[in-house]
Amino acid sequence: MKGRETAAYINIDKYLENLNYIQNQTKAHIIPVLKANAYGHGMLPLAMQVFKEGYSMLAVAYLEEALEILNRGIHLPILIFNYFSPDDFKELLEFAHFLRPTITSSTFLEKVCDILGKDVDKFKFHINVDTGINRIGIKEEKLPQLIKLIKDRNIQIEGVYSHFANADEKDDFTRVQFEKYKGLLDYIIGSGIDVEKKHISNSAAALFFPEFALDYVRPGIATYGLQPSTTYKIDQLKPILELKSIVANIQNLQPNDTIGYGRTYEVQKRMKTAIVPIGYADGYFRALSNKGEVLINGKRSKILGRVSMDQIVVDVTDNNVSLGDEVVIIGRQKYDQITAEEVAENASTINYEVTSRIAQRVRRIYI
Ligand code: PLP
Repeated sequence: MKGRETAAYINIDKYLENLNYIQNQTKAHIIPVLKANAYGHGMLPLAMQVFKEGYSMLAVAYLEEALEILNRGIHLPILIFNYFSPDDFKELLEFAHFLRPTITSSTFLEKVCDILGKDVDKFKFHINVDTGINRIGIKEEKLPQLIKLIKDRNIQIEGVYSHFANADEKDDFTRVQFEKYKGLLDYIIGSGIDVEKKHISNSAAALFFPEFALDYVRPGIATYGLQPSTTYKIDQLKPILELKSIVANIQNLQPNDTIGYGRTYEVQKRMKTAIVPIGYADGYFRALSNKGEVLINGKRSKILGRVSMDQIVVDVTDNNVSLGDEVVIIGRQKYDQITAEEVAENASTINYEVTSRIAQRVRRIYI
């Protein structure tokens, strides 16, 4: 079934090429980050590729994402960045071998120990130490208490990591965070805890600060071929997603006609419009009303009026379009290209949000 013919096309070869490019820039192993449905690109098909390619670990944000992967038979260690309920641990023994929960506080670990009892030794944990982003990592002053608990309960610590706040701006603060991380790591190791896997770099740090690569790097955005920085462009990254639709209707409009909800666009002289079946319920931005552009026949067509829930109206007055013609919302057509970065700029956001928001009802087609 073709349905409304709006779909995201995801190129697996380009995904693997981006991973290879990153691998060639760093001496660390890569932990591909597949959280949030792989930033909208579809978590399971890409997790399958990561598995097939022999990567030793991948990362997600939440337990639910890790379980979806494991339940599909994709069995490799999965680092879970964020908190989940300690109560869940009882049901996780089956996958204990693959799950790598993050310890974010002593209270969390204490609860996990209470729930699991002796079985806590079946899990390997990573500790997230805060070095300045001030989110979920453990603060320096809380470490002694945590280390005591880890030693008392014989908890297996596989990794210690942190996260940069501003590596995409090549900010000096990145170095400050790195030094802080090293200090905290020395303290943890000095307390007698073995740490096999050390990691701190996201895409921007892996590519702009290769000297901070430790045992692993954790790139997300760059693996999808999207730019990790709005300031420094990396030409070798190839976007793996194209978002396409078709011309679903064509209308001829007269002066004084208005288009869409709120009547925000008024026709001045006779014009021709095309209706495209994509709207804000697909994750397209309402902020692009009267502003965004799409490609039809290789030409830019401006959005007229408001982006509504299921459709947009675009100007094709000087374009010889037919019903069913391809419309590129993100991607290349003939000699022009609309990037996720361009959409982001027009919608006053970042490329991460552009692809992550692509809704579930948009079909993903893997090519
Ligand atoms: N590591 C952690 C802890 C993250 O939260 C994220 C994503 O925000 C990443 C790595 C990957 O970051 P990026 O997509 O900028 O490479």
